[in-house]
Amino acid sequence: MVKRVAIVGAGCSGLTAIKCCLEEGLEPTCFERSEDIGGLWRFTNNTEEGRGSIYKSVVTNTSKEMMCFSDFPMPEEFPTYLHHSKVLEYLHLYVEHFSLIKYIHFQTEVCSVRKHPDFNSTGLWDVVTQKQGEKTVAIFDAVLICNGHFTDPCLPFECFPGINNFKGSIIHSRTYKTPDSYNGKTVLVVGIGNSAADLAVELAHIAKQVFLSTREGSWVLSRISHNGFPVDMVLSRRFTLLGVHLLPKKLAAMLNEKLMSRWFNHANYGLEPKNRMKIPIVNDYLPSQILQGAIKVKPNIKEFTETSAIFEDGTVVDNLDAVIFATGYNMTFPFLNDFSLEMDESNAPLYKNVFPVQVEKPTIAFLGLIQPLGPIMPTVELQARWATRVFKGEAHLPPKRKMEKYIIRSMKTKSKWFGITKSLSLQTHYIDYVNELSVEIGNCPNLMYLFLTDPKLAWEVAFGPCTPFQHRLSGPGKWQGARKAILTQWERTLKPNRTRIVQKNQDAMQRLPYNLILILSAIIVGIWFRS
Ligand code: FAD
Ligand code: NAP
Repeated sequence: MVKRVAIVGAGCSGLTAIKCCLEEGLEPTCFERSEDIGGLWRFTNNTEEGRGSIYKSVVTNTSKEMMCFSDFPMPEEFPTYLHHSKVLEYLHLYVEHFSLIKYIHFQTEVCSVRKHPDFNSTGLWDVVTQKQGEKTVAIFDAVLICNGHFTDPCLPFECFPGINNFKGSIIHSRTYKTPDSYNGKTVLVVGIGNSAADLAVELAHIAKQVFLSTREGSWVLSRISHNGFPVDMVLSRRFTLLGVHLLPKKLAAMLNEKLMSRWFNHANYGLEPKNRMKIPIVNDYLPSQILQGAIKVKPNIKEFTETSAIFEDGTVVDNLDAVIFATGYNMTFPFLNDFSLEMDESNAPLYKNVFPVQVEKPTIAFLGLIQPLGPIMPTVELQARWATRVFKGEAHLPPKRKMEKYIIRSMKTKSKWFGITKSLSLQTHYIDYVNELSVEIGNCPNLMYLFLTDPKLAWEVAFGPCTPFQHRLSGPGKWQGARKAILTQWERTLKPNRTRIVQKNQDAMQRLPYNLILILSAIIVGIWFRS
């Protein structure tokens, strides 16, 4: 029987993995190569090898009620969107509350995870770790890989002829910390992920001119949605998802475009994506910096010279001082020796993004290899709850052929939604994915039963934001505080903003009929189009 579980990394994935092991009566041992918890949320002035790195100004793009762990709401006084230091503070509170620290071995790097010689009969793993130069081998019944996937920068220089001749400064966004050294400079930021947008906006305040080059374009969402409510709390609702599934794709794309363009016309700002269903980025200031001329959006780069960039539309930016490649990351697992995880537009080696299909025994699982249109932390928590139940034998995986068929099917569906991209296997609709995991765990909220027994709660679960607490209402790991956490989630959202009390308050309940009408109309139109 599986008992001892090795966990690689003490970022938010590793921390919740420890807690989930304890919940299932397993014995976790977590190895963290750096000296503290938090993974990439622990800001340092320099980048460290093997650990994700963030810039000084990072603020979350998911709100606190959506991104917390399911049985540990964030303190009500925390702002709705968090500076990175607050995320780290929350992780410290989590560790303290659930007494997790004693399971973590700091400054201990996992050098190799290999199948034990008896693996085929036992599923055991040999884990080699290194602390202060000294290597140790230990045998574990199972392994949870939580090493993060933002450490190996992707620098696709082969796509940019002449880049080696460029005389200005070149960095990847991973090493960017502050804008200070770009004062008065002409800077080109490449890419249009969240990093590219954040960096371009920050640099726009200090640089002479910022150019933002994108090959595909992107939708941009503001954190602030209808009536000033957090955008993810407004959009991530079970009922909205039902609408998405009922609508024909063309109509869904049209509605998506309408939704994304509510605050500005993306085509007029040079941002409109080629794929209309592309996952949006979140940035409150990009359009206004474009409007002020501080950022100029450019197409893909054709080539570099010593001092300039030439774009595919033939335009040239000369006297360029610096280029920042915000071109994302490669996924690497340097400690894995027995198998590899090649992921691209056609390969997806993980069943439900957690279990490697080619490994004969389900005693190794990967956490955090996912890009949901939503928060990572509660998603990873559900992955950990499922994985630990599989380790324990409480949940089971289907035969290999079934898992492979499932992967082919899901990649087909994803390519229809998100288009063909390198990170296709990671992309997913948040509620779809958490629903799938919660079915595996047995904690999916039963709406019919809830409407009969607790209509007030049922209403908030069906029509309110799909917050993590919904997966603690029933089933394994049920938490007594879940109902209250759901019914008070709007109070915690609004509390930190109400620092000056005014008589007229627009609360969440007043807003609901509006959303409901919108969603119902979308579904009716969808059904009408289909028939
Ligand atoms: P990490 O936080 O990267 O932690 C991995 C840990 O593993 C590190 O501590 C590392 O030192 C350790 N480690 C690695 N290799 C080894 C080894 N061989 N041996 C021992 N230890 C090892 N997500 C959201 O939901 N909302 C957001 O707003 C958001 N903002 C983001 C902003 C930025 C700039 C970035 C880069 C990402 C953001 N994310 C956000 C996604 C983010 O990756 C996740 O929220 C989360 O931090 C992932 O946690 P993790 O534990 O999987 O990985
Ligand atoms: P990313 O999301 O992977 O984006 C990489 C960008 O680089 C994409 O726009 C991609 O273009 C572009 N790109 C890649 N290869 C290219 C090429 N050869 N030529 C031109 N463009 C190329 O990486 P990221 O922005 O660093 O984000 C990493 C993670 O951190 C994400 O999960 C993100 O949400 C998170 N993050 C969050 C925040 C925040 O919360 N504030 C801030 C930063 C990052 P295509 O779009 O055309 O593929």
